[in-house]
Amino acid sequence: MIEVKNLYKIFNQNKKNEFTALENVSLFIPKEQIVLLKGVSGSGKSTLLSIISSLQKPTSGDVIVDGEHIAKLPDLHASKFRNEKIGYVFQDFNLINSLNVFHNVMTPLIVQNLSKDEIKAKVINALSLANIKHKKDEFVSNLSGGEKQRVAIARALVCDANILLFDEPTANLDKQNSLKFLSLLEDFKKLKKTVIIATHDSIFEQSNVIFETINMQDGKIV
Ligand code: ADP
Ligand code: MG
Repeated sequence: MIEVKNLYKIFNQNKKNEFTALENVSLFIPKEQIVLLKGVSGSGKSTLLSIISSLQKPTSGDVIVDGEHIAKLPDLHASKFRNEKIGYVFQDFNLINSLNVFHNVMTPLIVQNLSKDEIKAKVINALSLANIKHKKDEFVSNLSGGEKQRVAIARALVCDANILLFDEPTANLDKQNSLKFLSLLEDFKKLKKTVIIATHDSIFEQSNVIFETINMQDGKIV
């Protein structure tokens, strides 16, 4: 389902400040499994997630997602691929503070050719799945960290992507909200999502839906 082969990401190649962020990374993540990508800060987790989601291109190597070789996709195709296949939840959520919850969650649907009613149905469904429907008219600037995260999750779910990528999902949450996130993982499992969670939080050891833990160190799988 997600296959990464001999992946390299070298920043500032052939310059004095050349830096190898990913070195010969290979991995395979089966369909409908939840996988942890563990490693300390700077080990390459975010870089790997951004390449899997086609936000960044690798220096070399291959990334196959849902049968599609995405490493060399032209930008326009890459954004279409991302919109349809990938739900990405950023560490700082990347929400638009000047919009309310409903409109934040709606943004990925703008590029799709849908009627107003179809959009509304999809947004309400995503808000329900992420347990944040009761705040749909609130501006995101008025929400707590845990609530903002659920809005970001609803936005990741709204296009019905089968792959969800989370970058340090509990880093900005208190203990109680982190535990709520763990129970959301069980919902993703029931929804048959393929999930990658980049983290260094040991709280995930309490989860029983984790299929595998992949450990990263200095840009390598260890
Ligand atoms: P993690 O998410 O595990 O903390 P990152 O993938 O963000 O790690 O970063 C891995 C390494 O790559 C870090 O040392 C970081 O400074 C470096 N890096 C990330 N992005 C860039 C960039 N655009 N230019 C140069 N170095 C980068
Ligand atoms: Mg990171």
